[in-house]
Amino acid sequence: MNKLIIGSHVSFTKDEGMLGSVKEALSYGENTFMFYTGAPQNTIRGKIDENKTNEAKELMKKNNIDINDVIIHAPYIVNLANNKDEDKFNFAVNFLKQELKRAETLGIKKIVLHPGSHVGLGVDEGLQNIIKGLNLVLDEKEGPIICLETMAGKGTELGKTFEEIKTIIDGVNNKERLLVCLDTCHLNDAGYDISNFDKLLNEFDNVIGIDKIGCIHINDSKNEKGAHKDRHENIGLGTLGFEKLIEIIYNDKLKEVPKILETPYVSISGGKDRTFPPYKQEIEMIKNKKYNPNLLQDIRNYYKKS
Ligand code: FE
Ligand code: FE
Ligand code: ZN
Repeated sequence: MNKLIIGSHVSFTKDEGMLGSVKEALSYGENTFMFYTGAPQNTIRGKIDENKTNEAKELMKKNNIDINDVIIHAPYIVNLANNKDEDKFNFAVNFLKQELKRAETLGIKKIVLHPGSHVGLGVDEGLQNIIKGLNLVLDEKEGPIICLETMAGKGTELGKTFEEIKTIIDGVNNKERLLVCLDTCHLNDAGYDISNFDKLLNEFDNVIGIDKIGCIHINDSKNEKGAHKDRHENIGLGTLGFEKLIEIIYNDKLKEVPKILETPYVSISGGKDRTFPPYKQEIEMIKNKKYNPNLLQDIRNYYKKS
């Protein structure tokens, strides 16, 4: 039996915090999940409720969710690559230090971070800034791990190649606190051929080391290989396709790695009305290893009823 560790992006709720996240994950049939400790696009963060956190941990235990597989995603506006404005850079460093403390309070071991965008400073300077920032953030030998996410290379994003990620890791003193988060959509959009994933894993192993994979984001892509766009698509409906994603999800070398879906919400009408999470139906499809050609319709029907 192949153990499958699968979950999706869920919310850290205003009232219940991580307890809300666990409940949401369970409602989709997941055994792990990923959340932002507040809004993804800002750095406003509330206090963490100890009772609710304990309740969350109990609920996880009861449902065989290993807290070591649960992931926090740092807000994507944090940019360690840009030091043009010293105050902003320092703010990013301090925010991440706080975020690591929040993770510790919650009992979470892994935080996914976008390496950053060099905003015109150039690749080398951007990478050096990220290294500087990470050394300030990870100034202690112990604590939660930062998983650097492989990026699509949109705009001036860094971390679009394994070599750039390797350069960052090499520059950081407390390397044991760094892992990598692969994102299937980003890999494709960055120009990697995901159709032969074993070959790609070999390449990753040669540059960084396969034991450094701490998390995988499973997303289809709206765009062709090398498009540098970063637009996620629902599982099976994009350019990667269901079969390729299934091969990655069930790859023997990645058995122990948590897989997280970040696919787009689906609107009931197909227009710009309220949208609903696709994860329950996508995860069903993944567990069955069988493509559901009525995926979008099934999602719409499910939420119409409720
Ligand atoms: Fe991300
Ligand atoms: Fe991602
Ligand atoms: Zn993305």
